[in-house]
Amino acid sequence: MGKWGGTEGNMLPEQHGAIVIPNNNFFANRDGLRPRYVILHGSAGGRRAQDLAAYFASTEGTLNPVSCHYIIGQDGTLVQCVSERDGAWSNGQLTRGHDSFWNASINPNLLTIAIEHCKPSLDNSDALTGPQQLTSFVLVHSICQRWGIPMRRADATGGITGHFSLDPINRSRCPGNYPWERLWTFLEDKKMLDLNDPVVRLFFTDGGHGTWRCKNGVILQGANLTFYRSHGGPSIFGLPLANEIHLPQYPNTAIVPCERALIAYDPERKIDSPPIHGPCYLLHIDSGLGQQLLLQRSNALIHTLSTKLTQIHTLSEI
Ligand SMILES: [Zn+2]
Repeated sequence: MGKWGGTEGNMLPEQHGAIVIPNNNFFANRDGLRPRYVILHGSAGGRRAQDLAAYFASTEGTLNPVSCHYIIGQDGTLVQCVSERDGAWSNGQLTRGHDSFWNASINPNLLTIAIEHCKPSLDNSDALTGPQQLTSFVLVHSICQRWGIPMRRADATGGITGHFSLDPINRSRCPGNYPWERLWTFLEDKKMLDLNDPVVRLFFTDGGHGTWRCKNGVILQGANLTFYRSHGGPSIFGLPLANEIHLPQYPNTAIVPCERALIAYDPERKIDSPPIHGPCYLLHIDSGLGQQLLLQRSNALIHTLSTKLTQIHTLSEI
């Protein structure tokens, strides 16, 4: 047989819940290369993943043997046909107009993990079904985690794209209709820390309505919470020291002082305009508002300390 990367008998799926229906249409061990891309396809016909897997197996030894790593049926059923360690015969040739990051001297099947989505329409115009979309998003995320593939649109360093990127002449409609924006949002969300993270769990609980409550009572919320979760959380920023500060001179901004940084929500860039996308950024601590806030905090600290010193003096003179 020699299927499943040549490992006889080892037929466990690499993705939880997948049914294994193997075939021999692959490059064993990718000629020593590692997968750097996830390629999404649409089947342009058919509904059941099991049927497409049987078709792939039936092409073994023919003039046009084809395959892919995973197939997702209309009902969300996931079938695995080829090990992720091997290169499936799925992408054909690079054609003129392919994305420029593909290296014409390397067979793209050696660098890619291919996912077929069963679509009954012959032009791939169907939207994914709900179960199909969920299986697809979870699978893409897991593959990226397993192989260190960047969870974003493909470029020279790797990532996720469709068959159209390789073969714009014959496969411009593969995968066809696909919820790309929802995929990017799903993957962004997965990248963020959540309350199950072992470090986060030490300091935060669910504050309700999508907020986090710190053990010191401070509430993190909205875009500032997203920023905190996306950029390392407590390990990078330390704990938040106070609820959002709203300064009347800067409407529609919200500053969260943390132990190790000052986070500013400022979508209109009223306070500062650093070269970063998104509504939040870190305030300068060596000038401007950030410096003033730090000075205020240290002045308040000095005031508290000197008050205490005076009290001690008074007490010792009694
Ligand atoms: Zn395709």
